[in-house]
Amino acid sequence: MLHMNSSEQGGTSMLKVTLEVMHRAADRLGLDQSIRNVISKPQRILSVAVPVRMDDGSVKVFDGYRVQHSLARGPAKGGIRFHPEVTMDEVVALAMNMTWKCAVVDIPYGGAKGGVVVDPRQLSVGELERLTRRFTSEISIIIGPEKDIPAPDVNTNPQIMAWVMDTYSMHMGYSVPSVVTGKPIEIGGSLGRVDATGRGCVYTIVELAKRIGLKLEGATAAVQGFGNVGSHAALILQEMGCRVIAVSDVHGALYNEKGLDCRAIKEVAARTGSILDYQGEAEQIPREQALEVPVDILVPAALENQIHAGNARRIRAKIVAEGANGPTTNEADEILRNQGTIIIPDILANAGGVTVSYFEWVQGLQSLSWTAKQVAAELERRMATSFNQVYDRAEREEVDLRTAAYLIAIERVAQAIKLRGIYP
Ligand code: GLU
Repeated sequence: MLHMNSSEQGGTSMLKVTLEVMHRAADRLGLDQSIRNVISKPQRILSVAVPVRMDDGSVKVFDGYRVQHSLARGPAKGGIRFHPEVTMDEVVALAMNMTWKCAVVDIPYGGAKGGVVVDPRQLSVGELERLTRRFTSEISIIIGPEKDIPAPDVNTNPQIMAWVMDTYSMHMGYSVPSVVTGKPIEIGGSLGRVDATGRGCVYTIVELAKRIGLKLEGATAAVQGFGNVGSHAALILQEMGCRVIAVSDVHGALYNEKGLDCRAIKEVAARTGSILDYQGEAEQIPREQALEVPVDILVPAALENQIHAGNARRIRAKIVAEGANGPTTNEADEILRNQGTIIIPDILANAGGVTVSYFEWVQGLQSLSWTAKQVAAELERRMATSFNQVYDRAEREEVDLRTAAYLIAIERVAQAIKLRGIYP
C-alpha cells in the first residue's frame, strides 16, 4: 500500500491546499501578477543532512529543512518540528502559513519553518540533544535574532529550544537568547509562552461567541490532540465555563457527556504519555470520533488534513477553531461552510503562540521581563483586535473568515514588498 503521510491524506498535500487558498484570495484582491509571483515561492530553502552519533556507537543521518518563505515584513519566524512524516513540501507550506499568520496579527516578521524527519520518541535524551545541536549548527548559517528566529512546533519543547540557544551561542562566543523563542523562563523565556497558542485560540473563540451571541458558560467543546496546543485550549475553555466532553491524542479518545476533568487528564498524560491511562470518569471511544461528537466548539489541535472530504459531513460543531496548522482540507472547508459551521482559520486561531514569541523576542532584545498579567493582557488585546478586523472584513465582503484573514494578510505582505521594491 502506498504510504501517505498526514499532510497528503486523501491525496491532498498541504502545500496544494495552502496555495489554493492563497490564489483564491489573491484573485479576489486583484493582486498584481508580479507580487503574486513573489509570494508563490519560498525565498530560501535549506536542506541539511544531520549526522548523529547514536548511543550504540553507530551514526545515523537524519534529513532536515529550514524554509524561509518571506522576509518582506521582518525577520523570518516559525517553529521547528520533529516528526517521521516531515517532507520538504510540508515545511514550505508551513513556512507560507507563518508569513500569513504573522501578517494577520500584525507582528513584524516574515514566515519560516523547520523540520527534521525523525520520530523523537525512538531517541534517548542524549540522542535528541545531539540531533538538535547538530541541526542547529547546520541551519546556523541562516538563523539569528535579526534573520530567522525558530520556536517550538510539533514534538519540540522548551528544553529543545534551550539546546538551540546554547548551540548558537557557542558558535558566536556569547549568549544570544533572542535567536530562539519558547525557551525556558530561566534562560530568557517569556511567562505565558507555554500556553499562549491554546490561550490565543480561546480568545478568538470568545470574540466569535460575542459576535454570534453564543454563551460560553455551559457550551460544549471537543479537542483533537492533547499536546501543547490542545491541552491548554481544553483547560482554558474549561476555565471559561465550557464543558469539554471529548478529547483525543495519538493513542485514542476520552468522552464524558457531563464534562471531562481536563486538568487530571493532562497530569496523567504528562506522566505516562497517553490520555488513555486516565482512570477517572470517562468512556474510551475510537480516536476519530472525538471530531464527530455533536458540540458547540471543536478545536482540531493535532496535525494537518485531519478534517477531510471523508469525515467532514459527520462533523456537527457550530464552531471549528483551528488550533493546528492546516487541519482542514479545502473540500472539507467547503462542506463545513455549507453545513453552517463557522471556521476560525489556523492563521488567526493559532497565532497566539507566535504572538507571545514576539513578546519574548522583544523582552530579550531589551533585556527586561514582563509579568504574566502583562503578557496575557497584551495577547488578548492583539488577538481580539485581529479577530475583529477579520470578522468585519468577512462581513463587509461577504466571505468566510479564512478568505478574509488571507485578504488582510496578503494585502499587508504585498504592501511591504511594494514599498521595499525589488532588489536590485
Ligand atoms: N510553531 C508555532 C506556530 O506554528 C509557533 C511559531 C513561533 O512561535 O515562532 O505558530
